[in-house]
Amino acid sequence: MPSASSAVPPAAAPGDESQSQKVLLGRYELGGLLGRGASAKVYRARDLLTGRDVAIKSFPNPRAGGRDGEGSAGTAAIEREAAILARLRHRHVVRLHEILGTRKKVHFVLDLATGGELFSLVDSDGCMTEDLARYYFRQLVSAVRYCHSRGVYHRDIKPENLLLDGDGDLKVADFGLGAVADESLHHTLCGTPAYVAPEILSKQGYHPAKVDIWSCGVVLFVLAAGYLPFNDASLINMYRKIYAGRFRCPYWFSPALRHLLRRILDPNPATRIDTDGILEHPWFRHGASGDGELEKLMRGHEEEAWFKTEFKEDMARDMTAFDILAFSPGSDLSGLFVAGPGTERVFVGEPAAAVLARVEDAGKKQGYGVRREGKGRAGPVYVEAEAGGIVAKVTVFRIADAVSVVEVVKGHGAEAAAFWSDWLEPAVKPQAV
Ligand code: ADP
Ligand code: MG
Repeated sequence: MPSASSAVPPAAAPGDESQSQKVLLGRYELGGLLGRGASAKVYRARDLLTGRDVAIKSFPNPRAGGRDGEGSAGTAAIEREAAILARLRHRHVVRLHEILGTRKKVHFVLDLATGGELFSLVDSDGCMTEDLARYYFRQLVSAVRYCHSRGVYHRDIKPENLLLDGDGDLKVADFGLGAVADESLHHTLCGTPAYVAPEILSKQGYHPAKVDIWSCGVVLFVLAAGYLPFNDASLINMYRKIYAGRFRCPYWFSPALRHLLRRILDPNPATRIDTDGILEHPWFRHGASGDGELEKLMRGHEEEAWFKTEFKEDMARDMTAFDILAFSPGSDLSGLFVAGPGTERVFVGEPAAAVLARVEDAGKKQGYGVRREGKGRAGPVYVEAEAGGIVAKVTVFRIADAVSVVEVVKGHGAEAAAFWSDWLEPAVKPQAV
């Protein structure tokens, strides 16, 4: 960890990506650590452009230093998580706003879930009333159903990955083990022991949708009981119980809840209830008004108006550069990346103005003259040394809404090269995976 030195380095200090750097790429002011997982650390941050609070999930850049071992997710894993998040837009799924990258780190800018982990509620209170458990379970099922409809399977549903937003509503997070798939059989062994479905353990292939449903059942049990349905000091014994679907409900569970849990925690995936069945189940529907309120919740993804007001106009976009790269293997974008010597071209998921503002900022901080030409917002921006030499010329080409290609023509000499690598590259590149 960096030392807590009182001298706060300037924003976007060259090459310095440690957390003592207060402002990330001139835009996100980093705050405290929110949590850490196996692959990443998550920080609170403020978007200086929009004033919004966000969460930033920072991975060590797997391309930095080639250490792909302990604690660092590989390029493929980070790309997969990004591609999954970019597909999802649902009020109960943590949303990805942007990907930023530098040589040392890859940062996901995410919805901030200010309420912390759902787990903490279970932890402090022991358990919750069936009504409250139903409230969260409905939101969870709504999110999971939506993900499945988009071909996304989470595969690691557990209370630590279920967060709460400022209104106390659920946000499903951490698609680090997620899969984008058809409904074919999966073989990857994944999940967290106590939440893992029996068919994963048997290694015979499994349907990822059924596995997510099982985990939702374990979560529901934990919320309402305050403890795990399958537990044992010995992992082997715990797995035995999971295989057999052997669990006991606490005496206070209602008959309807017991029935639903038996249907979800059915060790046979073929007879296990699916999300349609859950939606029809009396416990799930209990207390639902006749006015379609529950149906509305289940359609969380159609609430576009809700997203639009939340999302500032110039950041609004349907696709990031990442999507284009991840989902357009057929379209030939290579020409955009093949530039002449001394020229760099970078795909960014941002509008021109945001990129150019950072470029100008970087130039000024280094004491260069900065001149923007052209009527439009695309530049070019010239960064010039006092002696008159051009250090860099930066132009942004618009590809689609908030998807641009940044072209940097570097000046001659070591000074221009250093400015590129220390200042411009971090300012320009929102992704480096
Ligand atoms: P990993 O993939 O390494 O497990 P997670 O995405 O699960 O990382 O994040 C680790 C922890 O950081 C979470 O358990 C949670 O406490 C916190 N966290 C993650 N995303 C957010 C967010 N969007 N808002 C608030 N806290 C978050
Ligand atoms: Mg996690």
